[in-house]
Amino acid sequence: MIIGAGMAGCAVAQALALADKGRRRKILVIDRHKGSAPRFAGEFIHPRGAQVLEDLGFYGPLKAAGAVDVDGFTVRERAEGRYVELPYADVAGQRPQGIAVHHKTLVKVMRQVISRRPQVELHEGWTIKSLVRGFGERVLGAVLSGPDGEEVEVRADLVVAADGKASQVRRLAGLPDDRQTIGFTAGLELRNAAVSAATWGNIVLGAWGPVLVYPIHRDAEGLTYRVTLDLPAQLPAKGAKLAEFLLETFIPYLPSALGEQLAAAISNHKGPFEMAPTVNLPAPRASFPGLVLVGDAAGCSHPITASGMTMGLRDAEVLGEQARLRAGASLHEAWLDDAAVRRYRAIHDRYVPTRQALADACMRCFAAATRGRGRSSGRCSTTGRRATSRACARWRCCRARRADRRCSSRSTSRRPATRSRRAWCPATRGRCRPATACAR
Ligand SMILES: Cc1cc2nc3c(=O)[nH]c(=O)nc-3n(C[C@H](O)[C@H](O)[C@H](O)COP(=O)(O)OP(=O)(O)OC[C@H]3O[C@@H](n4cnc5c(N)ncnc54)[C@H](O)[C@@H]3O)c2cc1C
Repeated sequence: MIIGAGMAGCAVAQALALADKGRRRKILVIDRHKGSAPRFAGEFIHPRGAQVLEDLGFYGPLKAAGAVDVDGFTVRERAEGRYVELPYADVAGQRPQGIAVHHKTLVKVMRQVISRRPQVELHEGWTIKSLVRGFGERVLGAVLSGPDGEEVEVRADLVVAADGKASQVRRLAGLPDDRQTIGFTAGLELRNAAVSAATWGNIVLGAWGPVLVYPIHRDAEGLTYRVTLDLPAQLPAKGAKLAEFLLETFIPYLPSALGEQLAAAISNHKGPFEMAPTVNLPAPRASFPGLVLVGDAAGCSHPITASGMTMGLRDAEVLGEQARLRAGASLHEAWLDDAAVRRYRAIHDRYVPTRQALADACMRCFAAATRGRGRSSGRCSTTGRRATSRACARWRCCRARRADRRCSSRSTSRRPATRSRRAWCPATRGRCRPATACAR
Protein backbone atom coordinates (compact mmCIF):
# COMPACT_ATOMS: atom_id res chain seq x y z
CA MET A 1 0.00 0.00 0.00
CA ILE A 2 1.54 3.28 -1.11
CA ILE A 3 0.47 6.50 0.60
CA GLY A 4 1.07 9.38 -1.81
CA ALA A 5 0.94 9.32 -5.61
CA GLY A 6 3.48 12.06 -6.19
CA MET A 7 6.65 11.43 -8.15
CA ALA A 8 8.11 8.92 -5.64
CA GLY A 9 4.87 7.04 -4.95
CA CYS A 10 4.13 6.58 -8.66
CA ALA A 11 7.71 5.44 -9.33
CA VAL A 12 7.51 2.87 -6.51
CA ALA A 13 4.14 1.59 -7.79
CA GLN A 14 5.54 1.13 -11.28
CA ALA A 15 8.77 -0.48 -10.05
CA LEU A 16 6.81 -3.00 -7.98
CA ALA A 17 4.36 -3.70 -10.81
CA LEU A 18 7.22 -4.38 -13.24
CA ALA A 19 8.88 -6.67 -10.69
CA ASP A 20 5.68 -8.71 -10.45
CA LYS A 21 5.89 -10.35 -13.86
CA GLY A 22 3.37 -13.04 -12.91
CA ARG A 23 0.85 -10.36 -11.87
CA ARG A 24 0.28 -12.12 -8.56
CA ARG A 25 0.24 -9.00 -6.36
CA LYS A 26 -1.98 -6.01 -5.82
CA ILE A 27 -0.57 -2.52 -5.36
CA LEU A 28 -2.87 0.05 -3.81
CA VAL A 29 -1.88 3.70 -4.23
CA ILE A 30 -3.78 6.57 -2.62
CA ASP A 31 -3.35 10.33 -2.78
CA ARG A 32 -5.25 13.11 -1.12
CA HIS A 33 -5.21 15.25 -4.29
CA LYS A 34 -6.86 14.59 -7.63
CA GLY A 35 -4.57 15.04 -10.67
CA SER A 36 -1.55 16.27 -8.71
CA ALA A 37 -0.73 18.17 -5.53
CA PRO A 38 -1.29 21.91 -6.09
CA ARG A 39 2.07 23.17 -4.85
CA PHE A 40 4.92 23.90 -7.21
CA ALA A 41 7.85 21.47 -6.75
CA GLY A 42 10.88 19.96 -8.48
CA GLU A 43 11.20 19.78 -12.25
CA PHE A 44 14.87 19.22 -13.11
CA ILE A 45 15.99 15.60 -12.96
CA HIS A 46 19.60 14.46 -13.21
CA PRO A 47 20.67 11.72 -15.68
CA ARG A 48 20.60 9.06 -12.94
CA GLY A 49 16.96 9.87 -12.25
CA ALA A 50 16.18 10.16 -15.97
CA GLN A 51 17.61 6.65 -16.41
CA VAL A 52 15.23 5.32 -13.75
CA LEU A 53 12.33 7.08 -15.48
CA GLU A 54 13.33 5.40 -18.73
CA ASP A 55 13.78 1.97 -17.12
CA LEU A 56 10.35 2.25 -15.54
CA GLY A 57 8.67 3.26 -18.81
CA PHE A 58 7.90 6.90 -17.95
CA TYR A 59 10.42 8.62 -20.22
CA GLY A 60 8.52 8.20 -23.56
CA PRO A 61 5.15 9.43 -22.20
CA LEU A 62 6.90 12.38 -20.49
CA LYS A 63 8.66 13.39 -23.71
CA ALA A 64 5.34 13.15 -25.54
CA ALA A 65 3.87 15.50 -22.91
CA GLY A 66 6.55 18.16 -23.55
CA ALA A 67 9.45 17.16 -21.23
CA VAL A 68 12.85 18.50 -22.30
CA ASP A 69 16.20 16.66 -22.37
CA VAL A 70 18.69 18.74 -20.40
CA ASP A 71 22.47 18.88 -20.69
CA GLY A 72 23.80 20.03 -17.32
CA PHE A 73 24.29 23.29 -15.44
CA THR A 74 25.89 26.62 -16.10
CA VAL A 75 26.92 28.81 -13.18
CA ARG A 76 27.33 32.54 -13.63
CA GLU A 77 28.96 34.41 -10.79
CA ARG A 78 27.76 37.83 -11.90
CA ALA A 79 25.21 39.28 -14.29
CA GLU A 80 27.47 39.95 -17.25
CA GLY A 81 30.52 37.99 -18.22
CA ARG A 82 31.46 34.37 -18.54
CA TYR A 83 29.88 31.34 -17.02
CA VAL A 84 31.12 27.92 -16.01
CA GLU A 85 29.64 24.84 -17.66
CA LEU A 86 29.02 21.60 -15.80
CA PRO A 87 28.02 19.23 -18.62
CA TYR A 88 26.40 15.91 -17.77
CA ALA A 89 28.22 14.43 -20.76
CA ASP A 90 31.51 14.82 -18.85
CA VAL A 91 30.44 12.26 -16.27
CA ALA A 92 31.64 8.89 -17.50
CA GLY A 93 29.37 5.88 -17.38
CA GLN A 94 26.00 7.61 -17.24
CA ARG A 95 23.50 8.87 -19.80
CA PRO A 96 24.57 12.29 -21.08
CA GLN A 97 21.27 14.04 -20.44
CA GLY A 98 18.77 14.54 -17.68
CA ILE A 99 15.16 15.55 -18.15
CA ALA A 100 13.12 18.55 -17.05
CA VAL A 101 9.35 18.81 -17.00
CA HIS A 102 6.60 20.88 -15.40
CA HIS A 103 5.97 19.18 -12.03
CA LYS A 104 2.21 18.88 -12.52
CA THR A 105 2.74 17.32 -15.96
CA LEU A 106 5.25 14.91 -14.43
CA VAL A 107 2.82 13.70 -11.78
CA LYS A 108 -0.19 13.56 -14.11
CA VAL A 109 1.71 11.51 -16.69
CA MET A 110 3.15 9.19 -14.03
CA ARG A 111 -0.34 8.60 -12.62
CA GLN A 112 -1.66 7.83 -16.11
CA VAL A 113 1.15 5.33 -16.68
CA ILE A 114 0.66 3.45 -13.39
CA SER A 115 -3.11 3.40 -13.87
CA ARG A 116 -2.55 1.24 -16.95
CA ARG A 117 -0.79 -1.50 -14.92
CA PRO A 118 -3.23 -4.28 -14.08
CA GLN A 119 -1.83 -4.76 -10.57
CA VAL A 120 -2.15 -1.10 -9.61
CA GLU A 121 -5.25 0.49 -8.10
CA LEU A 122 -4.99 4.28 -7.77
CA HIS A 123 -7.49 6.14 -5.58
CA GLU A 124 -7.37 9.92 -5.58
CA GLY A 125 -9.03 12.01 -2.88
CA TRP A 126 -8.06 9.50 -0.16
CA THR A 127 -5.87 10.05 2.84
CA ILE A 128 -4.47 8.03 5.75
CA LYS A 129 -6.05 8.22 9.21
CA SER A 130 -3.98 5.75 11.21
CA LEU A 131 -1.64 2.81 10.93
CA VAL A 132 -2.85 -0.67 11.90
CA ARG A 133 -0.28 -2.20 14.25
CA GLY A 134 0.35 -5.84 15.16
CA PHE A 135 2.64 -7.63 17.52
CA GLY A 136 5.84 -5.72 18.35
CA GLU A 137 4.52 -2.55 16.66
CA ARG A 138 4.72 -4.19 13.22
CA VAL A 139 2.71 -2.20 10.68
CA LEU A 140 -0.02 -4.40 9.22
CA GLY A 141 -1.93 -1.84 7.20
CA ALA A 142 -3.75 1.45 7.53
CA VAL A 143 -7.13 3.05 8.06
CA LEU A 144 -7.88 5.19 5.02
CA SER A 145 -10.39 7.97 4.70
CA GLY A 146 -12.22 8.63 1.43
CA PRO A 147 -13.57 11.75 -0.26
CA ASP A 148 -16.98 11.38 1.39
CA GLY A 149 -15.54 10.82 4.85
CA GLU A 150 -15.88 7.03 4.68
CA GLU A 151 -13.20 5.03 6.53
CA VAL A 152 -11.77 1.72 5.39
CA GLU A 153 -9.20 -0.52 7.04
CA VAL A 154 -6.81 -2.06 4.53
CA ARG A 155 -4.20 -4.73 5.34
CA ALA A 156 -0.95 -4.93 3.35
CA ASP A 157 2.43 -6.71 3.43
CA LEU A 158 4.10 -3.34 3.33
CA VAL A 159 3.04 0.29 3.76
CA VAL A 160 5.14 2.73 1.71
CA ALA A 161 5.22 6.31 2.98
CA ALA A 162 5.51 8.43 -0.18
CA ASP A 163 3.58 11.38 1.20
CA GLY A 164 6.29 14.00 0.98
CA LYS A 165 8.30 16.07 3.39
CA ALA A 166 5.39 16.72 5.78
CA SER A 167 4.65 12.96 5.80
CA GLN A 168 1.68 12.03 7.95
CA VAL A 169 2.73 8.38 7.83
CA ARG A 170 6.07 9.31 9.34
CA ARG A 171 4.24 11.08 12.14
CA LEU A 172 1.86 8.14 12.65
CA ALA A 173 4.93 5.87 12.87
CA GLY A 174 6.06 7.95 15.84
CA LEU A 175 9.08 9.61 14.23
CA PRO A 176 9.81 13.12 15.51
CA ASP A 177 9.30 15.94 13.02
CA ASP A 178 12.81 17.36 12.54
CA ARG A 179 11.93 19.59 9.58
CA GLN A 180 13.42 23.07 9.46
CA THR A 181 12.10 25.60 6.99
CA ILE A 182 15.18 27.15 5.40
CA GLY A 183 13.36 29.63 3.22
CA PHE A 184 10.97 29.87 0.29
CA THR A 185 11.30 29.52 -3.44
CA ALA A 186 9.19 31.64 -5.76
CA GLY A 187 8.62 30.24 -9.24
CA LEU A 188 7.73 32.07 -12.43
CA GLU A 189 7.39 30.90 -16.01
CA LEU A 190 9.02 32.58 -19.01
CA ARG A 191 8.58 31.86 -22.71
CA ASN A 192 11.86 31.40 -24.60
CA ALA A 193 13.99 32.86 -21.81
CA ALA A 194 17.14 34.74 -22.83
CA VAL A 195 19.60 32.25 -21.37
CA SER A 196 22.99 31.44 -22.82
CA ALA A 197 22.42 27.71 -22.68
CA ALA A 198 18.90 26.83 -23.81
CA THR A 199 18.67 23.27 -22.52
CA TRP A 200 20.68 23.67 -19.34
CA GLY A 201 19.94 24.63 -15.77
CA ASN A 202 21.31 28.18 -15.65
CA ILE A 203 22.33 29.36 -12.17
CA VAL A 204 22.98 33.06 -11.66
CA LEU A 205 24.60 34.19 -8.42
CA GLY A 206 24.92 37.69 -7.07
CA ALA A 207 21.36 38.52 -6.02
CA TRP A 208 19.90 37.87 -2.58
CA GLY A 209 19.84 34.15 -3.37
CA PRO A 210 20.70 31.97 -6.35
CA VAL A 211 18.45 32.25 -9.40
CA LEU A 212 17.87 29.12 -11.45
CA VAL A 213 16.45 29.14 -15.00
CA TYR A 214 15.69 25.91 -16.86
CA PRO A 215 13.32 24.66 -19.56
CA ILE A 216 10.24 22.73 -18.40
CA HIS A 217 8.15 22.38 -21.56
CA ARG A 218 8.76 22.14 -25.28
CA ASP A 219 6.09 22.87 -27.89
CA ALA A 220 6.01 23.90 -31.53
CA GLU A 221 6.76 27.55 -30.68
CA GLY A 222 9.72 26.92 -28.43
CA LEU A 223 10.49 26.40 -24.77
CA THR A 224 8.80 27.44 -21.56
CA TYR A 225 11.24 28.07 -18.73
CA ARG A 226 10.96 27.97 -14.97
CA VAL A 227 12.73 30.69 -13.03
CA THR A 228 13.19 30.03 -9.33
CA LEU A 229 14.10 32.77 -6.89
CA ASP A 230 15.40 31.88 -3.46
CA LEU A 231 13.84 33.80 -0.57
CA PRO A 232 14.61 33.88 3.15
CA ALA A 233 12.54 32.03 5.76
CA GLN A 234 11.27 35.34 7.16
CA LEU A 235 9.63 36.63 4.00
CA PRO A 236 10.71 40.25 3.55
CA ALA A 237 7.40 41.19 1.96
CA LYS A 238 4.01 39.69 1.29
CA GLY A 239 1.29 40.05 -1.31
CA ALA A 240 1.80 42.87 -3.81
CA LYS A 241 4.87 44.12 -1.97
CA LEU A 242 6.63 40.89 -2.80
CA ALA A 243 6.64 41.87 -6.49
CA GLU A 244 8.49 45.05 -5.61
CA PHE A 245 10.95 43.14 -3.47
CA LEU A 246 11.65 40.65 -6.29
CA LEU A 247 12.15 43.46 -8.78
CA GLU A 248 14.55 45.31 -6.55
CA THR A 249 16.57 42.44 -5.15
CA PHE A 250 16.88 40.08 -8.12
CA ILE A 251 16.54 41.87 -11.45
CA PRO A 252 19.70 44.05 -11.23
CA TYR A 253 21.82 40.93 -10.81
CA LEU A 254 20.59 39.11 -13.90
CA PRO A 255 21.99 39.38 -17.42
CA SER A 256 20.10 42.32 -18.90
CA ALA A 257 17.94 40.53 -21.49
CA LEU A 258 16.87 37.91 -18.98
CA GLY A 259 16.33 40.64 -16.37
CA GLU A 260 14.01 42.48 -18.75
CA GLN A 261 11.96 39.34 -19.40
CA LEU A 262 11.69 38.45 -15.75
CA ALA A 263 10.85 42.00 -14.71
CA ALA A 264 7.99 42.00 -17.20
CA ALA A 265 6.80 38.60 -15.95
CA ILE A 266 6.83 39.82 -12.33
CA SER A 267 5.12 43.11 -13.18
CA ASN A 268 2.40 41.47 -15.24
CA HIS A 269 1.82 38.60 -12.84
CA LYS A 270 -1.74 38.38 -11.54
CA GLY A 271 -2.56 36.80 -8.20
CA PRO A 272 -0.14 35.31 -5.68
CA PHE A 273 3.22 34.02 -6.89
CA GLU A 274 3.83 30.29 -6.93
CA MET A 275 5.76 29.66 -3.72
CA ALA A 276 7.05 26.61 -1.92
CA PRO A 277 8.89 26.34 1.38
CA THR A 278 12.41 24.95 1.19
CA VAL A 279 12.93 22.44 3.92
CA ASN A 280 15.77 20.57 5.50
CA LEU A 281 14.87 17.20 6.96
CA PRO A 282 17.87 15.12 8.08
CA ALA A 283 17.23 11.59 6.82
CA PRO A 284 15.09 9.76 9.41
CA ARG A 285 15.21 5.98 9.78
CA ALA A 286 13.76 4.77 6.48
CA SER A 287 12.30 1.40 7.47
CA PHE A 288 10.43 -0.40 10.22
CA PRO A 289 8.79 -3.84 10.18
CA GLY A 290 6.02 -3.49 7.60
CA LEU A 291 6.83 0.13 6.68
CA VAL A 292 9.29 1.99 4.45
CA LEU A 293 9.78 5.70 3.79
CA VAL A 294 10.64 6.90 0.27
CA GLY A 295 11.26 10.23 -1.48
CA ASP A 296 10.94 13.41 0.56
CA ALA A 297 9.23 11.54 3.40
CA ALA A 298 12.63 9.89 3.93
CA GLY A 299 14.59 13.16 4.07
CA CYS A 300 14.96 16.30 2.01
CA SER A 301 17.30 19.25 1.50
CA HIS A 302 17.35 22.68 -0.09
CA PRO A 303 16.55 22.17 -3.82
CA ILE A 304 19.81 23.83 -4.91
CA THR A 305 21.29 20.48 -5.99
CA ALA A 306 18.06 19.54 -7.83
CA SER A 307 18.46 16.04 -6.45
CA GLY A 308 15.25 15.33 -4.47
CA MET A 309 13.53 13.60 -7.35
CA THR A 310 16.57 11.57 -8.29
CA MET A 311 16.63 10.34 -4.67
CA GLY A 312 12.97 9.33 -4.82
CA LEU A 313 13.52 7.58 -8.14
CA ARG A 314 16.53 5.71 -6.70
CA ASP A 315 14.33 4.62 -3.76
CA ALA A 316 11.81 3.24 -6.25
CA GLU A 317 14.54 1.47 -8.20
CA VAL A 318 15.97 -0.16 -5.06
CA LEU A 319 12.56 -1.31 -3.84
CA GLY A 320 11.85 -2.68 -7.33
CA GLU A 321 15.13 -4.65 -7.24
CA GLN A 322 14.23 -6.09 -3.83
CA ALA A 323 10.75 -6.98 -5.09
CA ARG A 324 12.27 -8.73 -8.11
CA LEU A 325 14.53 -10.80 -5.87
CA ARG A 326 11.41 -11.94 -3.97
CA ALA A 327 9.16 -12.34 -7.01
CA GLY A 328 8.80 -16.07 -6.46
CA ALA A 329 7.86 -15.79 -2.76
CA SER A 330 4.74 -17.69 -1.74
CA LEU A 331 1.55 -15.65 -1.47
CA HIS A 332 1.41 -16.73 2.20
CA GLU A 333 4.46 -14.67 3.05
CA ALA A 334 5.27 -11.00 2.64
CA TRP A 335 6.51 -10.06 -0.82
CA LEU A 336 8.93 -7.48 0.59
CA ASP A 337 9.76 -9.24 3.85
CA ASP A 338 11.81 -7.85 6.74
CA ALA A 339 15.13 -8.87 5.15
CA ALA A 340 14.21 -7.11 1.88
CA VAL A 341 13.18 -4.00 3.79
CA ARG A 342 16.48 -4.02 5.71
CA ARG A 343 18.41 -4.30 2.44
CA TYR A 344 16.45 -1.34 1.06
CA ARG A 345 17.39 0.73 4.08
CA ALA A 346 21.07 -0.23 3.90
CA ILE A 347 21.30 0.93 0.26
CA HIS A 348 19.13 4.03 0.81
CA ASP A 349 21.32 5.09 3.74
CA ARG A 350 24.32 5.28 1.42
CA TYR A 351 23.04 7.84 -1.07
CA VAL A 352 20.62 10.01 0.94
CA PRO A 353 23.02 11.45 3.55
CA THR A 354 25.62 12.05 0.82
CA ARG A 355 23.13 14.12 -1.13
CA GLN A 356 22.16 16.06 2.00
CA ALA A 357 25.79 16.90 2.79
CA LEU A 358 26.28 18.07 -0.81
CA ALA A 359 23.13 20.22 -0.73
CA ASP A 360 24.22 21.88 2.53
CA ALA A 361 27.71 22.54 1.15
CA CYS A 362 26.39 23.95 -2.17
CA MET A 363 23.94 26.20 -0.35
CA ARG A 364 26.63 27.56 1.96
CA CYS A 365 28.96 28.14 -0.97
CA PHE A 366 26.33 29.82 -3.19
CA ALA A 367 24.97 31.85 -0.30
CA ALA A 368 28.46 33.13 0.47
CA ALA A 369 28.97 34.00 -3.18
CA THR A 370 25.64 35.73 -3.17
CA ARG A 371 24.66 37.32 0.12
CA GLY A 372 27.98 38.80 1.06
CA ARG A 373 27.83 40.87 -2.05
CA GLY A 374 24.61 42.70 -2.65
CA ARG A 375 24.27 46.09 -4.23
CA SER A 376 26.96 47.79 -2.20
CA SER A 377 29.76 46.10 -4.11
CA GLY A 378 28.34 47.47 -7.35
CA ARG A 379 28.64 44.22 -9.22
CA CYS A 380 25.17 44.36 -10.67
CA SER A 381 25.00 45.42 -14.27
CA THR A 382 24.07 48.97 -15.23
CA THR A 383 21.53 47.59 -17.63
CA GLY A 384 20.24 45.45 -14.79
CA ARG A 385 19.80 48.51 -12.60
CA ARG A 386 17.98 50.30 -15.41
CA ALA A 387 15.76 47.26 -15.93
CA THR A 388 14.87 47.33 -12.25
CA SER A 389 13.96 51.02 -12.25
CA ARG A 390 11.83 50.51 -15.32
CA ALA A 391 10.20 47.43 -13.87
CA CYS A 392 9.51 49.10 -10.54
CA ALA A 393 7.98 52.03 -12.36
CA ARG A 394 5.86 49.72 -14.45
CA TRP A 395 4.76 47.88 -11.36
CA ARG A 396 3.80 51.11 -9.63
CA CYS A 397 1.96 52.22 -12.74
CA CYS A 398 -0.04 49.00 -12.74
CA ARG A 399 -0.92 49.57 -9.12
CA ALA A 400 -1.87 53.15 -9.81
CA ARG A 401 -3.92 52.05 -12.80
CA ARG A 402 -5.92 49.66 -10.69
CA ALA A 403 -6.61 52.40 -8.16
CA ASP A 404 -7.28 55.17 -10.64
CA ARG A 405 -10.48 55.11 -12.63
CA ARG A 406 -9.30 57.90 -14.85
CA CYS A 407 -6.83 55.60 -16.52
CA SER A 408 -8.15 54.34 -19.80
CA SER A 409 -8.04 50.63 -20.52
CA ARG A 410 -6.69 51.58 -23.97
CA SER A 411 -3.43 52.56 -22.42
CA THR A 412 -2.75 48.98 -21.29
CA SER A 413 -2.60 47.71 -24.82
CA ARG A 414 -0.49 50.66 -25.87
CA ARG A 415 2.04 50.11 -23.14
CA PRO A 416 5.37 49.87 -24.91
CA ALA A 417 7.55 46.82 -24.79
CA THR A 418 10.00 46.44 -21.92
CA ARG A 419 12.80 47.52 -24.26
CA SER A 420 11.64 51.11 -23.81
CA ARG A 421 13.93 53.22 -21.65
CA ARG A 422 11.08 54.85 -19.79
CA ALA A 423 7.92 53.34 -18.42
CA TRP A 424 4.52 53.90 -19.92
CA CYS A 425 2.38 55.60 -17.32
CA PRO A 426 -1.34 55.14 -17.81
CA ALA A 427 -2.04 57.83 -15.23
CA THR A 428 -0.37 60.50 -17.37
CA ARG A 429 -1.06 58.69 -20.65
CA GLY A 430 2.49 59.01 -21.65
CA ARG A 431 6.01 58.15 -20.76
CA CYS A 432 7.17 59.00 -17.32
CA ARG A 433 10.44 58.90 -15.47
CA PRO A 434 10.87 55.55 -13.81
CA ALA A 435 9.77 55.29 -10.22
CA THR A 436 8.97 58.96 -9.82
CA ALA A 437 6.01 60.27 -11.78
CA CYS A 438 3.94 57.20 -11.03
CA ALA A 439 4.92 56.56 -7.47
CA ARG A 440 1.63 57.40 -5.82
C1 LIG B 1 10.82 24.87 -4.81
C2 LIG B 1 11.35 23.49 -5.01
C3 LIG B 1 12.12 23.21 -6.12
C4 LIG B 1 12.62 21.92 -6.29
N1 LIG B 1 13.39 21.66 -7.39
C5 LIG B 1 13.84 20.41 -7.59
C6 LIG B 1 14.53 20.07 -8.77
O1 LIG B 1 14.74 20.90 -9.66
N2 LIG B 1 14.97 18.79 -8.92
C7 LIG B 1 14.72 17.83 -7.97
O2 LIG B 1 15.15 16.69 -8.15
N3 LIG B 1 14.03 18.11 -6.86
C8 LIG B 1 13.57 19.36 -6.65
N4 LIG B 1 12.82 19.63 -5.54
C9 LIG B 1 12.48 18.54 -4.63
C10 LIG B 1 11.33 17.71 -5.21
O3 LIG B 1 10.21 18.54 -5.46
C11 LIG B 1 10.95 16.62 -4.25
O4 LIG B 1 12.11 15.89 -3.92
C12 LIG B 1 9.92 15.68 -4.85
O5 LIG B 1 8.76 16.36 -5.25
C13 LIG B 1 9.57 14.62 -3.80
O6 LIG B 1 8.61 13.77 -4.33
P1 LIG B 1 7.72 12.92 -3.35
O7 LIG B 1 6.84 12.12 -4.23
O8 LIG B 1 8.58 12.24 -2.35
O9 LIG B 1 6.87 13.99 -2.51
P2 LIG B 1 5.80 15.01 -3.03
O10 LIG B 1 6.17 15.52 -4.36
O11 LIG B 1 5.61 15.97 -1.92
O12 LIG B 1 4.48 14.13 -3.20
C14 LIG B 1 3.79 13.66 -2.07
C15 LIG B 1 2.41 13.20 -2.51
O13 LIG B 1 1.74 12.68 -1.36
C16 LIG B 1 0.43 13.21 -1.29
N5 LIG B 1 0.06 13.24 0.13
C17 LIG B 1 0.59 14.02 1.09
N6 LIG B 1 0.04 13.72 2.27
C18 LIG B 1 -0.86 12.75 2.04
C19 LIG B 1 -1.75 12.01 2.87
N7 LIG B 1 -1.83 12.24 4.19
N8 LIG B 1 -2.53 11.07 2.31
C20 LIG B 1 -2.48 10.84 0.98
N9 LIG B 1 -1.65 11.49 0.15
C21 LIG B 1 -0.85 12.43 0.68
C22 LIG B 1 0.53 14.58 -1.94
O14 LIG B 1 -0.73 14.98 -2.46
C23 LIG B 1 1.55 14.33 -3.04
O15 LIG B 1 0.94 13.93 -4.24
C24 LIG B 1 12.33 20.90 -5.34
C25 LIG B 1 11.55 21.21 -4.22
C26 LIG B 1 11.07 22.48 -4.05
C27 LIG B 1 10.23 22.79 -2.84
